Amino acid sequence: MKMLQCPACGHKVNLKQAGATKKVNGIFMLQCANCQQWSHENRNAAVVKNLGLMLMITGSVMGYFQLGGIITGPLIALIGSLIAVATLFAVPRVVYTGI
Ligand SMILES: [Zn+2]
Repeated sequence: MKMLQCPACGHKVNLKQAGATKKVNGIFMLQCANCQQWSHENRNAAVVKNLGLMLMITGSVMGYFQLGGIITGPLIALIGSLIAVATLFAVPRVVYTGI
């Protein structure tokens, strides 16, 4: 299960145990069950993460059709997933203030 950290109090927020969730302008918001603070993903991190996910999908498709050999596709998919996971855990969430 994906664990996210609340940027306001450092409380670990489990997606299933989150106080509440909502979407604002297409951005996924999560409310901390501990301090009631809303937070969302860092925008730049979201862009990089989507880039990683796109690489992952591209690599998977390439691997499926064996484009560029047996290695290239899966390798691109692996790099893409590493980028996506790394940004998810390395970049802290942002406190939402625009209520
Ligand atoms: Zn909190």
